[in-house]
Amino acid sequence: MKAARSERNVPYLSLEMQRRGETPLPRQVAEWRTEFRRDLRVAWRLRLSQPSAGHAVIAAVSPLFEEWLERGHGVLSFRMTQVLTGHGKFGRFLHRIKEERTPGCRHCVDRPEDTVEHTVEVCPAWAEHRRVLVEAIGGGDLSRRALVQAMVRSEEGWQAVASFCEAVMLAKEAADRVRQRNSHRRRRDPDPDYRPP
Ligand SMILES: [Zn+2]
Repeated sequence: MKAARSERNVPYLSLEMQRRGETPLPRQVAEWRTEFRRDLRVAWRLRLSQPSAGHAVIAAVSPLFEEWLERGHGVLSFRMTQVLTGHGKFGRFLHRIKEERTPGCRHCVDRPEDTVEHTVEVCPAWAEHRRVLVEAIGGGDLSRRALVQAMVRSEEGWQAVASFCEAVMLAKEAADRVRQRNSHRRRRDPDPDYRPP
């Protein structure tokens, strides 16, 4: 667990604010604590799912296992693993491990099921990243098999997939944090329109 996400950083965040001449409200401190705890819980659930993620990586690369083993480049990052296995910040997976109430995509208006395929191939939220990836790997096939193919084919291909996974998964993590923060706030301060008269 990265120190930056630790609950022990709450006093540090308070100090930072005081240094800027602001005083954190108790509810701000409580909010930080809730956020840190939630991040920690998700990280542990992800970690506990790793034994099966190992098998899932093998399953994802199995059609090209020889090439995968023979390649002389590329290290699989945490976020690439999430995309190849589906064990990560995808609605379907989060719903399965009971982190989310629904498997729907939180970046789409009509909330279709958020799978790896939806994120990589369809979701309009990641159109720009997708365009860069398609250009780099020289083709519109973005199935997991095609991604693995691009990765083993060349170092540039590997790098393009790595950059895509890194950017999109990071953005998903950030959006998730903002959403959690807002839903927390909404629960505490109901929208004036929905207050009883
Ligand atoms: Zn979507």
